[in-house]
Amino acid sequence: MTEQTNTSDLVIGGAGFAGLALAIALVEALGPQFKVTVADPALGSAQSRDPRASAIAAAARRMFETIGVWQAVEPQAQPMLDMVITDSKLDDAVRPTFLTFEGEVAPGEAFAHMIENRHLVDALVAKAKELGIELRATAVSSFAYPQGAHAAPSRIDVLFADGGELSTRLLVGADGARSQIRERAGIVTYGWSYRQSGIVCTVAHERPHNGRAEEHFLPGGPFAILPLTGNRSSIVWTESTADAERYVALSDAGFHDELEKRFGLHLGEIEVVGPRRAFPLGLYTARTFIGERLALIGDAAHVIHPIAGQGLNMGLRDVAALAEAVADAARLGLDVGGRPVLERYQRWRRFDTAMMGIATDSLNRLFSNRSDVLRLARDIGLGLVERMPPLKRMFIHEAAGFTGDVPKLLKGEAL
Ligand SMILES: Cc1cc2nc3c(=O)[nH]c(=O)nc-3n(C[C@H](O)[C@H](O)[C@H](O)COP(=O)(O)OP(=O)(O)OC[C@H]3O[C@@H](n4cnc5c(N)ncnc54)[C@H](O)[C@@H]3O)c2cc1C
Repeated sequence: MTEQTNTSDLVIGGAGFAGLALAIALVEALGPQFKVTVADPALGSAQSRDPRASAIAAAARRMFETIGVWQAVEPQAQPMLDMVITDSKLDDAVRPTFLTFEGEVAPGEAFAHMIENRHLVDALVAKAKELGIELRATAVSSFAYPQGAHAAPSRIDVLFADGGELSTRLLVGADGARSQIRERAGIVTYGWSYRQSGIVCTVAHERPHNGRAEEHFLPGGPFAILPLTGNRSSIVWTESTADAERYVALSDAGFHDELEKRFGLHLGEIEVVGPRRAFPLGLYTARTFIGERLALIGDAAHVIHPIAGQGLNMGLRDVAALAEAVADAARLGLDVGGRPVLERYQRWRRFDTAMMGIATDSLNRLFSNRSDVLRLARDIGLGLVERMPPLKRMFIHEAAGFTGDVPKLLKGEAL
């Protein structure tokens, strides 16, 4: 890099939820003099084509509120008021309910809200622009340490696909499951593909869902009906990857028939609105979340099965933890990309991430299984949880994101 290379305090590769939320949290906490740059080729396209919607846990919602983003998306967010879980074969005439959750973590505060991804990303981009965060519509293509740097370089030089360069104290890889930043840093991942895909689409229905989420454990895998605003729901339908591809490729009428078999008729006539897409599912964790002047957050650090709707919520826990570690260091005049900051972040997040990976993996194995014996065992288990209110309360608290060592932003406290 040349003498005139531009500088930034922090560079984030990836403008998904994790990258944008981190940039906003830091500039809100440290002011515009703390220069943050976010780069992502997707920033160049006018509209997100992501058909997914996400369950935003109460803790993550508090963080969005604290960083001034929730206010913009609230009209498009549907509170999840209760949840019903059933376990049956596809052709069973009735699906007995094994578990119900009614979900408020505090009076008037739902344990989760459903929101379409495109609305949330739009609101995050608008907030980042309002705060003067530099947004570059290009990819991070590589990075290097200044020539002559010894064991602990004081900066990292970031190169972009458009030919631009920036020298910074910390590069954050928020570039998703197939993170090139992680790969370039030589950080390997552990894990496996489930050979399952989640078919995602939005459905309009005749009758209101009344804020109820449904998870039907069918032999092919979990089938979730998640309430959106209006008489609409978001579907996450798990099948083996081969079957998922076959269903997605069906004619509109054929897809509707297969969907209706699983959805049922309790909400009246259904109609698929918008695109349908299958997302391959896997469980991956990066061997380390940190490198030399480098941190990984969100799906770049870990990917889990969407069975419990927790992937993004885990990424937002990374955001809250890293933002707190960086803001604390900056206020003390310490190096924001130094080892102590990165190690504090990694200690905070790795154990929790491993636990969530194991929990979602076990749930998926237990429920994506055609064995009648296993089915009996899990139905007894669900029935027991149903009869134990304290256990149910614990699950609601876990789903809301309030267990463990919760970073400030997730408690709704400013940094
Ligand atoms: C079917 C399905 C349903 C889900 N439902 C839920 C749910 O209900 N609740 C929940 O909490 N989670 C859910 N998840 C998980 C959630 O969607 C992800 O965890 C979340 O999107 C990850 O966000 P991210 O910001 O880490 O990465 P991403 O959203 O993948 O963003 C990464 C960004 O990086 C950019 N990028 C890539 N390479 C580069 C590069 N070299 N330089 C710069 N930018 C780059 C990409 O363009 C992209 O914009 C679900 C996942 C699936 C598959």
